[in-house]
Amino acid sequence: MGTQPLNRLRTDFPPLGLGALVHRRITAPGALAAVTLLLAIPASASSRSPGAPGIGDPYYPAYGNGGYDVSHYDLRLKYQPATDRLDGTATLLARTTQDLVRFNLDFLLDVSEVRVDGAKAAFRTSGEHELEITPDKPLAKGTPVTVVVRYGGVPSKKQAYGFTSWLRTPDGGVAAGEPEAAWWWFPSNDHPLDKATYDVSVQVPDGSQAISNGTLQSASSRAGWTRYSWRSDKPQATYLATLAVGRFDITTGTTKGGIPVLSAYSKDLGNVYGAARSSVERTGEIADWLTGYFGPYPYNALGGYVPNTGTGYALETQTRPYYSPRQFAAGSNTSVVVHELAHQWYGDLVSVARWKDIWINEGFARYAQWLWSEHEGEGTAQQLADHVYASRPADDPFWKVAPGDPGPENQFHLAVYDRGALALQALRNRIGDADFFAVLKGWPAKYAHGNASVADFRRYAEQVSGKPLGGLFDTWLYRPSKPAADAARDASIPVRAAGAKGTPVQPKSWKKIAATNGVHERGHKRSGGRVAGGGHVE
Ligand SMILES: [Zn+2]
Repeated sequence: MGTQPLNRLRTDFPPLGLGALVHRRITAPGALAAVTLLLAIPASASSRSPGAPGIGDPYYPAYGNGGYDVSHYDLRLKYQPATDRLDGTATLLARTTQDLVRFNLDFLLDVSEVRVDGAKAAFRTSGEHELEITPDKPLAKGTPVTVVVRYGGVPSKKQAYGFTSWLRTPDGGVAAGEPEAAWWWFPSNDHPLDKATYDVSVQVPDGSQAISNGTLQSASSRAGWTRYSWRSDKPQATYLATLAVGRFDITTGTTKGGIPVLSAYSKDLGNVYGAARSSVERTGEIADWLTGYFGPYPYNALGGYVPNTGTGYALETQTRPYYSPRQFAAGSNTSVVVHELAHQWYGDLVSVARWKDIWINEGFARYAQWLWSEHEGEGTAQQLADHVYASRPADDPFWKVAPGDPGPENQFHLAVYDRGALALQALRNRIGDADFFAVLKGWPAKYAHGNASVADFRRYAEQVSGKPLGGLFDTWLYRPSKPAADAARDASIPVRAAGAKGTPVQPKSWKKIAATNGVHERGHKRSGGRVAGGGHVE
C-alpha cells in the first residue's frame, strides 16, 4: 500500500520471540497466587510502556500488535443481510508478554465498550486500523487477561488504506482476504504469529445461514433469527478465520479417513453452480490424497464454500476454504481445490513467520497442483517445471521477482507461485525423491500449529538431505534473474540448446492451473495500489 514504507533494509526490528506463540494456561492454584502477587506490585517505570502498534513485520509494520498473545477468540455476533449491519461482542483470552500500560487491537468497526478483566477500560482509535486500549490498572508481564469488546457497524462502509476486504453479496457478506480480513468483523492481534482457537456464534435471519471455520456445534431458531455456532479448536491465524452469511445449499459427508466434511454453495450461482459444486465436492477425496504427501490431515473438519461474490480469488480459510464463483466460470476445476487444501498443511498448520515467507505457502500449494496433474495423467511436475523455465525468456519481468522475499507489492505475484514451484522441482532433483518427499511430509509435523520461515525450511531440507543448499536456494528463490543454463543443468531442469525453436509441449493440465492464475491478476482492486504488480491471493 502506497502509504507504507517497505522497510526491507531495516535490520533493527527486535527478534520476535517464537516462545510467545506457545499458549500456556495457568491452572495450578500456586501459579494463580503468583499472578495475584505480580498484580499487587505497584506499577514501575517499565510498566508505563505501551504495547507496540505492530508485531514487527517489515512488510506490514502496523499489522498485529506487541505486548500480548491471544489464545482464544469468542465472537458472539448478529448480522442483518439486508443492511449489512454487524453487531457483536468479542471476548479475547490473552496473556501479556511485557508490562503494559496500554495495548492495541486491530479493528475498524465502531466500539461502544471495552472491558479488561471485568473493569471498563478507556479506548480510542488511531492510525488506519488501531484500537488503543488503556486498562484502569497497568498489566504485569505474564498475566492472563480477558478483554471484552462490544461493537457494531456496517463493514462494507469501513476502509483502511483506501480499501475494504469485506465482500458484500446480494444475500449477505463474506470475510475472506489475505493478509487483511479480520478488521471488518472482529478485533484481533492481526498477524499469523498470534494464532488462537475460535468460537464463532452468529445470529442471522431465518432462511440465511452463517458459515465459519471448523465444526458446526449447533443451529437453532428463535423469534425469526437462527444462531449458528462454530468451533475451530486448533490454533488458527486471524486471516484464516472466515465468516460468510448468505443463502446456501449445504452438503455434508465424511472422508475415508473419518473427517466430517461440510460445504456450502450459494443458491444464486446460476450457471456456475454445477461446476462449482462438482469441484468442491471432491474435497474429501483430494484431502485424503494429499495426506499421502503431507501426512495426516491436521484438523477435525473439512469443506469449502462458494458464495456469490464478484471477486476472483480463492483463499485457504482454515478447514473450509473460500472459493469465488469465477474460479469455476470455465468449468469444473479440481486444481484450485488441491491448491487450497494443500494450504491446510502449508500455510495454515505451518504459517509464515513474517509475510516475506509467503513462498512457504504459495510455492508448495502450487507444487501440489503439479503433483495432482501428475496423478491425473495430465503432465508430470518435471514437465510443468520445464514449461515454466522454457516459456519465460531471461528478460521476462517474471524473473525479477524473488519468491524467497518478493516484497509486499509482489507478495502474490505469479512468480511466487510458478517460480516458487520450479524451485521445489530443482530441490527435488538435487536431493532426490526419497529425501524430497521426506521433507514435504516432515515439515508440517516439525512446525505443526506454529510458524516458520524460508530460512527454517532451507535448514530443514539440509538436515534431512545432508546436503548444503544455500547456493540452490539463492539461485532459485532469491536472485532477481532467470537461473542460467549451468544452474538449471545442475538442478536437472532441462535446458534447450541455443537456437532451439519453440517451447516444450504444454502439459495438458497447464490451462486449468493457469486458470487459477488469471484470477489473481483480476483480484482485489485497491486504491492503495499495493498489489498493482501482482493481483491477489489464493
Ligand atoms: Zn495459495
